[in-house]
Amino acid sequence: MTLPASRRRFLQLAGAGLAVAGSGLPGLGYAQTAPAAAPASPRADGPVLLNFNECPYGPSAAAQSAARDSIARCGRYRFELAAQVRDAFVEHSGVSADHLRLYPGSSEPLNRAAAIWTGPQQGLVVADPTFEAIGDVAAARGAHVSRVPLRSDGAHDVRAMVAAAHARPTGLMYVCNPNNPTGSISPPAELAWLLASKPAGTRVLLDEAYLQYSDQPSLIAQVAERDDLIVLRTFSKLYGMAGLRLGAAAAHPDRLRELGSLGDNPLPVPALAAALASLHDPQLVPQRRLQNAKIRQATIAWLGKRGFSCLPSEANCFVVDVQRDGAAFARAMAAQGVVIGRSWPIWPQRVRVTVGTEEEMAAFRAAFAQVAGVPS
Ligand code: PLP
Repeated sequence: MTLPASRRRFLQLAGAGLAVAGSGLPGLGYAQTAPAAAPASPRADGPVLLNFNECPYGPSAAAQSAARDSIARCGRYRFELAAQVRDAFVEHSGVSADHLRLYPGSSEPLNRAAAIWTGPQQGLVVADPTFEAIGDVAAARGAHVSRVPLRSDGAHDVRAMVAAAHARPTGLMYVCNPNNPTGSISPPAELAWLLASKPAGTRVLLDEAYLQYSDQPSLIAQVAERDDLIVLRTFSKLYGMAGLRLGAAAAHPDRLRELGSLGDNPLPVPALAAALASLHDPQLVPQRRLQNAKIRQATIAWLGKRGFSCLPSEANCFVVDVQRDGAAFARAMAAQGVVIGRSWPIWPQRVRVTVGTEEEMAAFRAAFAQVAGVPS
């Protein structure tokens, strides 16, 4: 059996004791692998984890309290609570209720999209580097995956992606905006051009997992006008709910039906309760966006002053050029108690770093200075 590339890397790293804490790997299987071999940390309070683009603040206080209060009623599926969350999301996003479906996280509709719209006769076009889970699923289903390098400014190269989609039968194009791992953005005019120029039968999966961190407009309302666009959102990032599991797919009802054809999966009640509390808090998004931007910009400026460049990021992660083997650099950082993300094959000397708290990024700077041999 041929394993998808990220899975192979995961297994190699598992042998090296870095599989969970050190790899930053998305994709198949990572969620259920026991962290038996997390690297030993020199920090008394455990390693600083800057590897999975998680939100270090967790769910807001109101969301935590709502989730706790919901536990007693978790013996029920609570479909009425799911409807309330959907209605609150609809009010926020401007999509109509029949164009929206909630899922336990955005990985589920993302995986379903690859399972349904890619295969031996229907390829996938993605950027490189990008969040590679969808490429892994598509490759496992026998689809050809065209990887199109990002432009030097970090934007998706929409011209080259559209050319790749026309070059062979393409079921799906995946666009992550802001992009994981770079946090770089693709401007609305570029995305409009992509939507206008792609092959007519090709669907576009637009992943807005990190959009709330950025100043970019969402394209979610466009699902009312076109039946070939699917927009994904998640509560895992800015809302701090990665472990609670809630996400959403917005699309034409026919596309939602196709996604739903792989079966239903009721939603976790504490996640619904936390999401509702989060959506009712008008301060949460602007406050966390500002906080993340401030810490991210300060960290990138600190790196820049020491000669290490990063692409401009509007997310809770960035990629830094460490000017040497990125995997070895990440291992050396882990030995200092700071676990950063990983490198992508196209950029072996760059590593992804998640933006943590002020204290976590102070630890990052100290470890980075030590490993790179620069002033702290
Ligand atoms: N999309 C992107 C771009 C991501 O980075 C991630 C997780 O890191 C996901 C989707 C999946 O997130 P979740 O299933 O927690 O919503």
